Amino acid sequence: MSERPPRIIAITNQKGGVGKTTTTINLGASLALMGERVLLVDMDPQGNASTGLGIGQAARDITSYDVLMGHETAGAAILPTATPGLSIIPATPDLSSIDLELAGERDRITRLRNALRDADLGRQDYVLIDCPPSLNLLTVNALVAADGVLVPLQCEFFALEGITQLLRTVGEIRQSSNKALITQGIILTMYDQRNNLTSDVETDVRENLGALVFKTVIPRNVRLSEAPSHGIPALAYDPRSSGSQAYVALARELRRRVRARQTA
Ligand code: ADP
Ligand code: MG
Repeated sequence: MSERPPRIIAITNQKGGVGKTTTTINLGASLALMGERVLLVDMDPQGNASTGLGIGQAARDITSYDVLMGHETAGAAILPTATPGLSIIPATPDLSSIDLELAGERDRITRLRNALRDADLGRQDYVLIDCPPSLNLLTVNALVAADGVLVPLQCEFFALEGITQLLRTVGEIRQSSNKALITQGIILTMYDQRNNLTSDVETDVRENLGALVFKTVIPRNVRLSEAPSHGIPALAYDPRSSGSQAYVALARELRRRVRARQTA
């Protein structure tokens, strides 16, 4: 039982369809299985993390939009999920107007950070923020609120180019508004062992980014894409699937990294 504040991790990549939401849900569920208390924050107007955890539109009463607008506290927005230890602040499409609505506000990039600090979140060990596929104000709020950034990377030809831009943005946020922000790691997703391009890209990414890249890779696994339509994490849907097992391994590796830093 720790008294320390939760480790806040933004799961981000400005590209869509690389596995951000799948990673948020399944890494969150894996950490919860290990006894950690995990809060997910859905910062994507598409609300895929909310849907994937069985939170229907009708149940999204208080959302991340209300929290960013200052209408509600983060604590008031938390909903439990069917997975013990895993809760969520859901998102609705109105989140897409935040850029415009907060345009004139001086504190627009610190809204999420302040909300998470002020709120009575209950005891949480991890807060995982699922970001939209863009480097917009929502993602900037996540990066300003976070201690670390996790980047899911699909093994494809232009993988490294996109990540260079993202790591530059992380560097800018670190210099301007969040000195403590680190790159927590890069996760190779939708990994296909039989595909030559996958292993070429893996070699390239590991040569360029070294220890930032997690040893654990997430395989392409149909269970990971099926589980959200049942409103549950893959671990609840098919715990023995290669996808579920990979996220459990990733959670272990992440926990080792976080603990190594905390004791360093
Ligand atoms: P993002 O949040 O980055 O847009 P998603 O996590 O929603 O990406 O993933 C995009 C699509 O790919 C979804 O349909 C998801 O179910 C599927 N998917 C993600 N990771 C995997 C995987 N490892 N194996 C198979 N399908 C996956
Ligand atoms: Mg997503």
